[in-house]
Amino acid sequence: MSCPTTWGVRAIAGSLVVASAIALLATSAAEALQVKITPSNPKLGDTLWVVAQYDNPTISSTPQVSLGKQTAQTFLIGPNQFRALLPTTPLDKPGTITIQVTGGGETKQVAVKLGNRTFPTQSIWLSGKGSDGTDYEFDRVDAFKKLVTPEKFWNGRFRRPNQGPITSGYGIRRYYNGVFAKDYYHRGVDYAGSHGSPVIAPAPGRVALVGRVAQGFKLHGNTIGLDHGQGVTSIYLHLSRINVKEGDFVQAGQAIGAVGATGAVTGPHLHWGLYVNGMSVDPAPWRDQGFE
Ligand SMILES: [Zn+2]
Repeated sequence: MSCPTTWGVRAIAGSLVVASAIALLATSAAEALQVKITPSNPKLGDTLWVVAQYDNPTISSTPQVSLGKQTAQTFLIGPNQFRALLPTTPLDKPGTITIQVTGGGETKQVAVKLGNRTFPTQSIWLSGKGSDGTDYEFDRVDAFKKLVTPEKFWNGRFRRPNQGPITSGYGIRRYYNGVFAKDYYHRGVDYAGSHGSPVIAPAPGRVALVGRVAQGFKLHGNTIGLDHGQGVTSIYLHLSRINVKEGDFVQAGQAIGAVGATGAVTGPHLHWGLYVNGMSVDPAPWRDQGFE
């Protein structure tokens, strides 16, 4: 079972390139802004958690967190405390990079190291044309991934969306007819649940996308997209059944649909993708450790 060969064709090029280590800046007594970045040893595909805190409670302006030309939205998470999420992906270059945090009239440059990671590779031999998706489905999925809504719905660890075994992990790279596909990586995790087995919401969220084969979801198949808030979204592909409609609010553990083989697939499976600010990140840390 594998995902569509054309999957990722419209991938966002040039993702945030970010890096490592609990980077607590040396702060003098006069400085008001502190920055902490977790995890301590991030690798390609990890989500970076940037927390900025003002020592001085009279400063209430929202800090800016940026990396190169990209700026991530920050959200208030406690008294004088703000958090931004920076996605990393297998397409990023490992090594040291600099995150810039500006707030309360100060700018901090935090150098962090993004560790390398080796992803498995697959060789795909195509005779003729792969299956194409429709503009309709790409446009709707692209718009969905860009959602950054102000409320935070998730809490703690994400659950496993299906009980089937994992058949394709996040980040797998591909060769097509012997040529390395430099923009391709598997943007999610495949669970080989049996046809009709339940797909559950791993975390609370709002149903922000429902797409069906009959409407033009030729590649993705029957699809659900959940908005978990603050730039975190997740997508469920190839479903045989959809139990929800757009606008519904779902709880963690709620059955939202069932595993199927709709769209461009070779057999029934669930493709689960997790996106942070539009980029496909490794869901494993969200499932195994959880983030607040
Ligand atoms: Zn997949």
